[in-house]
Amino acid sequence: MQNSIAIVGCGISGISASIELIKRDIKHTIFEARNTIGGRFYSFYDPGFDFELDNGQHFFSTVYRHFFDILDFLGSLQKIAQPKELEIYFYSQVNQKFCLRKNLFGGQFGLLGGILNLKSLPITSRVKLLRLFLDFKFSSKIHLSNNLSAYDLLRMKKQDNEIIKKFWEPVCVSIFNNSTKKIPAELFKHTIKLAFLSDKNPVGFMYSKVPQSQLFGEYLNFSKRNSIELYLGSSINQLQFKRDIFILTTKDGKVFEFKYVILCVPPNALRKLLPPAWIDSSEFKFLQNVSFNPILSIYFTTKKPIISEPYGYLLESPIHWIFNRNIMLDLSKPQNFYSITISDSKQFINKSSEEIKNEVVIELQKYFHIKPEILSWKPIKEKFATVDIDLEFYRLRPNQETSIPGLFLAGDWTNTNLPATLESAALSGKLAVEKLLNKMG
Ligand SMILES: Cc1cc2nc3c(=O)[nH]c(=O)nc-3n(C[C@H](O)[C@H](O)[C@H](O)COP(=O)(O)OP(=O)(O)OC[C@H]3O[C@@H](n4cnc5c(N)ncnc54)[C@H](O)[C@@H]3O)c2cc1C
Repeated sequence: MQNSIAIVGCGISGISASIELIKRDIKHTIFEARNTIGGRFYSFYDPGFDFELDNGQHFFSTVYRHFFDILDFLGSLQKIAQPKELEIYFYSQVNQKFCLRKNLFGGQFGLLGGILNLKSLPITSRVKLLRLFLDFKFSSKIHLSNNLSAYDLLRMKKQDNEIIKKFWEPVCVSIFNNSTKKIPAELFKHTIKLAFLSDKNPVGFMYSKVPQSQLFGEYLNFSKRNSIELYLGSSINQLQFKRDIFILTTKDGKVFEFKYVILCVPPNALRKLLPPAWIDSSEFKFLQNVSFNPILSIYFTTKKPIISEPYGYLLESPIHWIFNRNIMLDLSKPQNFYSITISDSKQFINKSSEEIKNEVVIELQKYFHIKPEILSWKPIKEKFATVDIDLEFYRLRPNQETSIPGLFLAGDWTNTNLPATLESAALSGKLAVEKLLNKMG
């Protein structure tokens, strides 16, 4: 037997688990199916744009802690845009632009003042919204019924249709990649408190200033220096468990044995590699209830500029965010370079590039009153962007430690009490290692 610990999957959860082991000088082996690391957070060179494109715009909340721990360890913190005062633009069809901006006060009070000024909502709705934030801020009890969705909770808290459509749906689709009707109320309230009402952190968002794979490039050097065995392009096709030993078989038939295994793969991949008998057991019952919400990202350049802000949200449009990449990445070329993110994009994901382009042009015309002449165009479809953590899956979300001795799970979808995000992935890797170390004694 080689070293005794294997990590399967080198996305953010796998990298997080590996770094926790490196910090303790514990040797381990990692298997990654692709030839690159980073999983669902990656970038690639696109010859059409002559530029490295991200698989989708990723935002990091200023309250993320575990994800930033990874960047700090890898010396990549200076590669992300530092948080500015919160400033989010909302565009409406009548060519109006509204800004949610923190006002004079700092911290959460600045946000609350900003909400009172948010002119996309009538003043009565703004007051209701403010009341809800204050209610969340000062109520410590989080436990809510298992059957309650975020939508149910919002209605109970007197949020009218206008607030839900123009505030809560944009917030939810952006953070949870899901709609208010599907998000568990408990997860929703916990997340909103963390993201908007934390005492420690200013409210804000950050993003990578470099193609996002570059944030993790240094991990490859760390793994080499620390004699971590990293097998890229090595999908694990089968896991067997015999006499307290895990036998891992790669797609090209190589066999490895380990005492401990951390599976850092999404549930659809997990299902393919576990012994079939386990899949029917109550422990892995959650595998029968998994569905995913896709994200569609589109990169394009236009003859004339569309927006002058760094980014903004199109209210009540099937297109959600538009990003001004020239401003965000401080680029001079290519000119008028934008991207769009359509979260929870089931209605688009099976359409052709041309069909998507037609719909996007119509929407941009409605919102910005110009017919954009598209020069370059590249849609990127992530069909399995995030697990749909709906009311049903939330109840079944597995912990990192399984009942099989030596087997641990990690991934944004495992139980972290966070939405399926980079922060959840990073935390899950840490939790899996913590449980593993307890077991090793
Ligand atoms: C377009 C898009 C936009 C997003 N935007 C945001 C955002 O703004 N903010 C945010 O916080 N999060 C965002 N997310 C979510 C974020 O990317 C994920 O939460 C995170 O990357 C998940 O990491 P993970 O390690 O759990 O899983 P993954 O990244 O899926 O990693 C799993 C790894 O396991 C490998 N693997 C699978 N099967 C096997 C096998 N049999 N053998 C070996 N290896 C295997 C895979 O190749 C992969 O590298 C977004 C996701 C997408 C797709």
